[in-house]
Amino acid sequence: MTSPNTRNSRYDILFEPVKIGPITMKNRFYQVPHCNGLGYARPQSLAAMRGIKAEGGWGAVCTEEVEIHPSSEISPYIEGRLWDKSDIPAHQLMTSAVHEHGALAGIELVHNGFHAPNRTSRLPPMAPSAMPVDAYDPVHARAMDLTDIKNFRKWYRQAALNAHEAGYDIIYVYAGHCMTTLMHFMLERFNHRNDEYGGSLKNRVRLTREVISEVKDAVGDQCAIAFRFAVDELMGKHGMTSEGEAQEVVGLLAELPDLWDVNISGWSHDSSTARFEPIEGYQEKYTSFVKSLTTKPVVGVGRFTSPDAMVSQIKRGVLDLIGAARPSIADPFLPNKIAEGRIDEIRECIGCNICVSGDNLSVPIRCTQNPTMGEEWRRKWHPEKIAPKVSDSSVLVVGAGPSGLEAALQLANRGYQVTLAEAGKELGGRATKESLLPGLSSYARVRDYRVNLLTQMVNVEIYKGSPLDEDAILDFGFPHVLLATGSHWRRDGTGRHHQHPIPGLDTISTFTPDDIMQGKVPTGDVIIFDDDHYYMGGVLAEKLISEGMKVTLITPATKISAWSEYTLEQEKIQAKLITLDVDLITNHALLNVTGNQIELSCSYTGRTKSIHADSLILVTARHANDTLYQRLKSNPGKLDKAGIKSLEVIGDAYSPGSLASAVYYGHLAARCLEGENWDAALFNGERPGLIS
Ligand code: ADP
Ligand code: SF4
Repeated sequence: MTSPNTRNSRYDILFEPVKIGPITMKNRFYQVPHCNGLGYARPQSLAAMRGIKAEGGWGAVCTEEVEIHPSSEISPYIEGRLWDKSDIPAHQLMTSAVHEHGALAGIELVHNGFHAPNRTSRLPPMAPSAMPVDAYDPVHARAMDLTDIKNFRKWYRQAALNAHEAGYDIIYVYAGHCMTTLMHFMLERFNHRNDEYGGSLKNRVRLTREVISEVKDAVGDQCAIAFRFAVDELMGKHGMTSEGEAQEVVGLLAELPDLWDVNISGWSHDSSTARFEPIEGYQEKYTSFVKSLTTKPVVGVGRFTSPDAMVSQIKRGVLDLIGAARPSIADPFLPNKIAEGRIDEIRECIGCNICVSGDNLSVPIRCTQNPTMGEEWRRKWHPEKIAPKVSDSSVLVVGAGPSGLEAALQLANRGYQVTLAEAGKELGGRATKESLLPGLSSYARVRDYRVNLLTQMVNVEIYKGSPLDEDAILDFGFPHVLLATGSHWRRDGTGRHHQHPIPGLDTISTFTPDDIMQGKVPTGDVIIFDDDHYYMGGVLAEKLISEGMKVTLITPATKISAWSEYTLEQEKIQAKLITLDVDLITNHALLNVTGNQIELSCSYTGRTKSIHADSLILVTARHANDTLYQRLKSNPGKLDKAGIKSLEVIGDAYSPGSLASAVYYGHLAARCLEGENWDAALFNGERPGLIS
């Protein structure tokens, strides 16, 4: 790492203390609530993850949404719970970890209303008016009567008291993302009541006003009361709009909360990927009005990673506090790096939403840029610290893709002498190639963060244009060799659907994603067969149709880019491709090819149909580039003779996967070199306690 510099004075404003109700935040860096797949199930992992952010300089660190009652539980998703006092000890782990570093701890109390099918508690969900729940479960929510409303207020009050007892400084009342009872009451489309809680906006806001007042009355003398409100649903007149009712809501409640936390809804808009919202501060156009209607501090998000953009938000009166979820995940030490004048060391979020996929799959959070995310407790990994080298051995890393770059960086951080050899003229491997595809330019940050640091380190030598073979590696005789030689897309159609090559591929021009990224150009009617189901098929369709080709995308799945549902992108991808006039054929696989005729079969019935194609792009599966590894490994005698003590294959060359997993395995390999045991930590899983 480079040595600390001094902070540029133009960023001083970011480090001013801000008063929020009865408490004071030490600076303007505010980690807004974010989900993580740890929640109530993994309290120690959660506390360690939040504690690291406080250590990294965030002035406030908040929980994810925390359910206040079993009538609002969204299992199997793993969020926070504060159902009663028995949950307090788990929360105390987090508040202690956060307070240890002088940060404030915030809790986002939620009741999910008809967004919660209550699959575990089996309680009938509740809503302002009777309606089916907003999942496809065969479950209806019942209309809350006045007794329910009274109970609801009581639950919020008790949860606030419990949160205070758990040590929280900021207590949220949450009406965001259309996932909350309070938002449901506010929205005319869900609230069909004709009592004092329905009808006029003033009536629809009544419950929110009552709950904020209730929570203030319970704990407001010692805690700041935050109100999170989605000011725009991006659905025009059918929903909340920042030009319409949202202004009235802010006007009605203006001075009631101590802090306004404002964003847009639904979650896929709020946490939009860089592919669909490339610009930092993308929520400003919706949220900027809020400050003109309240004197209370306002926090908002916008994937902020640049201190200049942050300063601009404050100086222009858009926000008082810089809110961040993903930038704090990608770099928990972002505030400290700005404070210490180490801006070029910020690990910038690439806006890929792999972090979100953890929550959506009910597994611990992970991050493409920050491989330590979610591993702070289980593996005891720290994003800025790593064990020093064990010996003076030098290390050769072959391949400078995400995996090789991360391994080289962390080995160099440990103090090893590292030589990084890359066959190509450019560093970055697939991150570099994919960053040139539509919407993926931010992927280059995976390369840039690492290359920037590596090129400043005296114990690192980087050789581009250096394809290494078996003989060269044996000749060099580095004691430790890591092979990060990547993967390539298959050309034979084998993948999830086809376990054998598709017949007849030799009768048509076939391409792989690698061909397209290398600049090869298909002609005529282009068919893309996507059996990969993440972003590549859709991105290639977008690229080729934008270049004027006629493109049909075929997938055996029911949806286009089906896995991207977990990154909140699926609907946007499908909508974009429809808008671009890509022909979409779902539920069909390629059966065989005869010249320009492609026979398809229905995934459900096997019924066939034929379509015409001039070029076929196969996006099915990848092969690990592990020939070099297999050759070297097959001759232990030669390795011994060359003085090679350890030989590892990492990243896509070990097993092709996401960018996140390539970085993760590069990081793991660096930690394990003469150090950690790679799998011991996996047995440190948190287990449910046995209560007699
Ligand atoms: P990963 O995602 O695992 O990092 P990538 O495919 O992104 O994998 O990167 C692998 C990198 O390794 C590519 O840049 C490629 O040029 C390089 N590479 C592959 N084989 C060799 C080799 N024999 N010598 C040097 N570099 C290699
Ligand atoms: Fe950003 Fe991707 Fe990391 Fe999420 S996973 S914080 S979007 S880099």
